[in-house]
Parts: sequence; C-alpha cells; structure tokens
Amino acid sequence: MIQSFPCPKTHLWQSSLKLDRECQCRPGEVSFLSRHVSMGYSMLELTGVTKYFGGLGAIRHVSLTVREGEFTGLIGPNGSGKTTLFNIITGVLKPSSGRIKFMGKDITGFLPDRICHSGIGRTFQVPRPFRGLSVVENIKAGILFGKGAAPVNEDPHQEACAVMELVGLKVQETTTPNELNIIDLRRLELARALATRPKLLLLDEVMSGLTQAEIAEASRVLNRIRKKWGITIIWVEHIMGALMNLVERVVILQFGEVLAEGMPSEVSRDQRVIEAYLGKE
Ligand code: ADP
Ligand code: MG
Repeated sequence: MIQSFPCPKTHLWQSSLKLDRECQCRPGEVSFLSRHVSMGYSMLELTGVTKYFGGLGAIRHVSLTVREGEFTGLIGPNGSGKTTLFNIITGVLKPSSGRIKFMGKDITGFLPDRICHSGIGRTFQVPRPFRGLSVVENIKAGILFGKGAAPVNEDPHQEACAVMELVGLKVQETTTPNELNIIDLRRLELARALATRPKLLLLDEVMSGLTQAEIAEASRVLNRIRKKWGITIIWVEHIMGALMNLVERVVILQFGEVLAEGMPSEVSRDQRVIEAYLGKE
C-alpha cells in the first residue's frame, strides 16, 4: 500500500514510493528532492489546461508540474492528447482555458517564436527540416533563431558541429535532408531543437520507426544530452522499454486527462494504466 508521511529532510509529505527514490541518500549527499526544494524551482507549471476542438475535449483540466532537471515521460494511447499538449505548451495552439507558467512567467497565449526564445524547444513527430537547406544550414538556422542559454561556441558553424557531434550526426557540408535515412532525419530533428539552446526540451516520438539497435543508440544520445547540457526533458514515446529505462517520472494521459503519474516501476504496475493500453478483460 502507498502511504504518506513527511520526508525527514524536507518535511514535505511524500508517498512511500517517492521517499524511496527521492529522499533516501547516503550521509552527506543532498537528495534529489531536497535539491529541488531548496531551489524551489518548478520549471513548467500547467494549471487546468483544457483544449476543445469543436465538441471534442482533446485536453481536459491537465495540471502538471515539471521541475528543473527532471526527465519526464509522457505516455498514453493514440489520440490521448500528447501532441496537443506539446502544441499548447509551445504556443502552436491556444488552450481553451487554463494557464501555463514557464520559469515563473505566465506564457499562456504567447506565440511559438516567443516561447522558443524563452527557452522551450521541441521536436515534431514527423520531422520537419527545411528541405531547401543543407543539414548544416538547418542546424545553423536553429542556432541563429534560438535565444536560450548562451552558446558554447560563438561561431554558429562550430556550434552546429558541436550539436551534430552530440546527436551523432555525421554528414558532408552539402548533404541535404532528402539524402538522410530515418535515424539521421530524427537526429537532425533533435539537433535542430537543441540548436535553439532550450532549457526545456519536448521530444515527440523521436524513436518511432527505429530498429532495436538504433533505439539503443538513441537512448545513449538522450543520456549524453542530459549529462552534457543538463536539460529538462518531457518525452512522448511509444517505445515503452526505452522510455521506462530512461525517465525518472511518467505521466499517463487518457482521453485528454491525467490518468496516473509516478515512477516508472510504479506506473507500469498500475492496473488503470495496463487497462488503458490493453483494455479491460
Ligand atoms: P496523441 O498525440 O496522444 O496521439 P493528439 O494530441 O494528436 O493525440 O490528438 C488528440 C485528439 O485531438 C485526437 O482525437 C485528435 O484527432 C484530435 N486533434 C488533434 N489535433 C487536432 C486539430 N488540429 N483539429 C481537430 N482535432 C484535433
Ligand atoms: Mg502524437
């Protein structure tokens, strides 16, 4: 049974499952939770976010907090509203109601370019490179457009090379997106998002269509990005094994509502989640 009691370090009320992960630490170590509590830093806060398309409630009263540095998986059956939620966070769609706060600022209703400049980057489920530009130019466009954290290199070309190395994209100067296979197209999509130097990165099915070996390689890339850049990530993915291995927390959407959230080990045993995917007997 999940019980609630106060964490001895933070004195916040936590479920026993959360205590296991967030508050147990060796002497002298600062726990994951207390680090965040001491910073008091919720990076993204959604409050009662709702989106109607005509009579269809694609997103209904979603309230969610993502803390700085967290790696959150967002899952749910097809049509449950995952991409719509990303579109709302990034300003592609306006919510019918509800508020979105990013780094303490209300960004509800901001246009996509302003949200990108605030530090939220994203990939699209179907890669969307500029087909008329070379691969390198595509990434440079992201660098010149984005105004997230300060670039590592002042020179956009050097910066593009650094991003390509990070995602494992090896191409000629003149290679165009049309010449790329699916994994390199996904690497480019990721590189374009990273090029804007986001503080929060939204990944929409970046592993879709990849082989097992490619999925393993893509997992290493995501780990590398977190280690090197320490970016906060929300990741939508159907490749459940890869997602459950990498993320710290999972949020499950069903019919546009949050069905459950918790640690991967916790939600994968949750009967409601199993039924949402497999249906009731
Ligand atoms: P998911 O990404 O979880 O598969 P989506 O967010 O794409 O789901 O879609 C959620 C629901 O909203 C679906 O029923 C879909 O048909 C509907 N929907 C998404 N975008 C639009 C749109 N632009 N206009 C009308 N309906 C939409
Ligand atoms: Mg989708």
